[in-house]
Amino acid sequence: MSDVRQHADEIHDQFSDHIDVTVEDVEERLRTLVDEYKVPMDEARRSVTNHYLEAADLEREDISRSGSEAANIEDVDEPEEWIDLTAKVIELWDPRSDSVAQVGLLGDPTGTIKFTKWAKSDLPALEEGGVYELQNVVTDEYQGRYSVKLNSTTVIEELEEDLEVGNDTSEIEGALVDMQSGSGLIKRCPKEGCTRVLQNGRCNEHGEVEGEFDLRIKAVVDDGLDAHEVIFDKEATEELTGLSLEEAKDMAMDALDTTVVADEIMDDIVGTYYRIEGPTFGRYVLADDVEELDGPADPEQLLIKARSM
Ligand SMILES: [Zn+2]
Repeated sequence: MSDVRQHADEIHDQFSDHIDVTVEDVEERLRTLVDEYKVPMDEARRSVTNHYLEAADLEREDISRSGSEAANIEDVDEPEEWIDLTAKVIELWDPRSDSVAQVGLLGDPTGTIKFTKWAKSDLPALEEGGVYELQNVVTDEYQGRYSVKLNSTTVIEELEEDLEVGNDTSEIEGALVDMQSGSGLIKRCPKEGCTRVLQNGRCNEHGEVEGEFDLRIKAVVDDGLDAHEVIFDKEATEELTGLSLEEAKDMAMDALDTTVVADEIMDDIVGTYYRIEGPTFGRYVLADDVEELDGPADPEQLLIKARSM
């Protein structure tokens, strides 16, 4: 069977339950794109699939590719692949859209990946800390970052066993382009196990409390392809800025204002190039190892590295 025919067959399988279409129709469309317009097969396949989605008035999530394959999270490097994952729900985030039922982070021994579960997929709720076998999820890519979508064809099975989650280390080389609010000299809630950052002397959970000073930086590092949110804890901040927590407190005391610390740090680091390594936690990279660079690294190199992340 020819390559094109095989692709046509697979696309046909996805739609044969939904619309009246023959394999020959699908093949014809693929051939036109591939042979006449020299479109790469991947792209042709996407284009033809989109055509039939529209014709059948379906969403991509409504169709499944037969025979999704068991995969590890670290292997996800293509969009629109249908795979099975065995993964633990590391954390759940607040969905930002009504069309999303759940969004969060999945982990397996090889790494972590964001997941989205559509509201209309009508699937059971995943729980934080739960381990699941997820059959028939589809991979997606946005600006070089991969995620998986749980859809109406996904089968969820909760497993009794625990699953060790691998440390997903990121390495970023780029310019620190912005420092976010909540950086510099901050106060944390002193209540046992809380450590929330206080807003105007108040903890979200415990109300007005006598906060404890801490140093941290929430920064945006641009590697030329993508912006990464990076958090520097006290140790990393002290190392990055040469400013200790004690010195920061003195500065704030002298000025009767804690924001002078953030201003000083900002002047020091924004616009500087760094190589940053550390574990990924949710959408943040925690800076473990930081090296200041002289300037932009070889942009070509940067691009290759960014793509491989
Ligand atoms: Zn608190």
